[in-house]
Amino acid sequence: MDQEVIKSLTRISRSLWGDLEKSVAIGADTLTTVCLLRLSDERTLERAIKVMIERAERNPPRLLALQHPFFRLAPVERFLMTALHVEKWDYSRIARTLGVETQLIEPWAWATRIKYAFQEMDAGLDYPHGPASLGASCPAYDPGQPWTQRLLDDELGKQERVFLQNHLHACEKCRKTLDLSRRVFFKIEGVIPVKDFQTEIEVASERIYRIWKSGESAFRPVKTTLKESLVVFFNQTSVQIILFGALILLMVQRVK
Ligand SMILES: [Zn+2]
Repeated sequence: MDQEVIKSLTRISRSLWGDLEKSVAIGADTLTTVCLLRLSDERTLERAIKVMIERAERNPPRLLALQHPFFRLAPVERFLMTALHVEKWDYSRIARTLGVETQLIEPWAWATRIKYAFQEMDAGLDYPHGPASLGASCPAYDPGQPWTQRLLDDELGKQERVFLQNHLHACEKCRKTLDLSRRVFFKIEGVIPVKDFQTEIEVASERIYRIWKSGESAFRPVKTTLKESLVVFFNQTSVQIILFGALILLMVQRVK
């Protein structure tokens, strides 16, 4: 398994559980179990994270909220913020991990960012309301899922991006709107605790890797040659009965 995959798992586990020891224990335990499904690294990571989120949501760690405003968000919201701001996952990967429709991620990400910046911490920022009135060529500003967020999350199609780049040169109102969203975006990016734990994450992911590795070798089936496999196969009583039946059928056909 790729080390970067384990680092991602470690960071998200840390965001979910807060406590380092718990993050390592649950991260390693979940990874070892999900690996039995023999999925690709990418899918293994996504599945393991889904399992961890469900576990954290069922039994949210207590007293975390006292440590940092980030932990006042729900576990699934902490995952969302970590996936977007630290892992830099796109909306479709986040949706796949959570097993929801991709279009749900955009309004949800915005609601979580607003909640974090304006309710859970006092960011001292102006609320990004959007322009009071739109010019003829201004893009529509949906306060529940504004274009500014799509731009900052790098989720725009080429055509939309080119249009906005050109429009922003000419339109001060939209530039101002983008600036307010950008302040919220980078304020949040700066206050996701796991970003400050880089050395700790390196060590923790190494520990998870070792636990996973020892579990992996315990479960790995012993390699057999094709000949050995065939001997085992033909020695099974059920296989012998089927073969005997097929032989009788063949003989009956011939007699006809
Ligand atoms: Zn405009």
